[in-house]
Amino acid sequence: MAFSSVCGGLTAISGNITNRKGKFGGKIMLNKKSVDDINVKGKKVLVRCDFNVPLQDGKITDENRLVAALPTIKKLIADGGKVILCSHLGKPKGEPKPELSLAPVAKRMSELLGQEVKFAADNNVVGDNAKAAVDAMAEGDVVLLENTRYRAEETKNGEAFSKELASLCDVFVNDAFGTAHRAHCSNVGVTEFVDGDCVVGYLMQKEIDFLGNAVNNPVRPFVAILGGAKVSSKISVINNLLDKVDTLIIGGGMAYTFMAAHGEEVGKSLLEEDYKQYALDMEKKAEEKGVKLLIPVDTVAADDFSNDANFKTVGRGEIPADMEGLDIGEESAKLFADAINGAKTVVWNGPMGCFEMPNFAKGTVEVAKAMAGLEGATTIIGGGDSAAAVNQLGFGDKMTHISTGGGASLEFLEGKELPGVAAADDK
Ligand code: AMP
Repeated sequence: MAFSSVCGGLTAISGNITNRKGKFGGKIMLNKKSVDDINVKGKKVLVRCDFNVPLQDGKITDENRLVAALPTIKKLIADGGKVILCSHLGKPKGEPKPELSLAPVAKRMSELLGQEVKFAADNNVVGDNAKAAVDAMAEGDVVLLENTRYRAEETKNGEAFSKELASLCDVFVNDAFGTAHRAHCSNVGVTEFVDGDCVVGYLMQKEIDFLGNAVNNPVRPFVAILGGAKVSSKISVINNLLDKVDTLIIGGGMAYTFMAAHGEEVGKSLLEEDYKQYALDMEKKAEEKGVKLLIPVDTVAADDFSNDANFKTVGRGEIPADMEGLDIGEESAKLFADAINGAKTVVWNGPMGCFEMPNFAKGTVEVAKAMAGLEGATTIIGGGDSAAAVNQLGFGDKMTHISTGGGASLEFLEGKELPGVAAADDK
């Protein structure tokens, strides 16, 4: 039962939480019970996985999340558990949608595990079919339930569906880092009704250990790189990281709000007028904290939001009124790479430009290269678009850790408690 620990604040991480001038670099561990702390032999184990994978015509186009789930599942099989997997997929909004069925995942997981993963086709998720499949399980068997978001209560953390899920199992394992920032039935509500242990899996443990150590106990110098489209979606991250890092690099669309805040011409680039003052406040905070805050010194400006657009590199403040900045320029890439060189911890969230278009991917490539070239450093990619960029550009295996959770890692970087982690039993 995890009832008492649902409210446990950032007890998720124990050990030396440091400030910039404090002690740093010693390993801190997640203070939650894990699959190593429980006995599952002969027990029904419900495992919340993150099988929210991209699908095209029923085919999985990126199976990183499936592969990342294997260690926990293999451990539970080896220990003689009856392993019941569940996950959401996409946003069916409470209705069964055949194109968002988890059936293709069951097929692929069977191949990856080398044993059958029986798919419990059931539009109620925990209906008669699912119950029958679970009742028929022997030790070491694996069953996958249907998309939890076929049920409208799932995202509302409703009691009835939480109880139904709990009724299937003796023990609950949460290994879905990708949804840890949400309080839903299948990762939070269920823990209130499971009689046995509610623990975290290896993936969850690994994610929190990497992100937690990087952010709260970094080996220095600690450099964070933020990019992507908007300042507004990363305000809390900027604010929180300024308390932790030695250098903060800001690229991507969000940099133009910083430039515009100084009255510089940004043409048709992404700009959030309402956040100009915030940008200035963050620059002031960086100065007060002794943090080096870097924004681009040049920009690749284009006459259209298209890979076929005409483009040229211009200096800061020189973006023509009819053009928009779609990437950082070469000088900025050099400046950023120099700042990354010598770092011992680097956390990156958000591309430096519109990396999906080859003509505007160079800045993102250069940052990835600089990170990939570091020796003896911990390099962490915070999920979502940055993970896609790094994998797509071929630097995936050069990074220490690529998070499986975009939103979750962002909320972690904001310093927020993740409800999916808090709901597991404390050690
Ligand atoms: P986010 O989800 O906030 O990390 O944003 C990722 C998206 O930001 C990617 O799809 C990029 O194409 C986009 N992006 C990055 N830089 C720019 C830019 N200068 N202008 C417009 N979009 C950008």
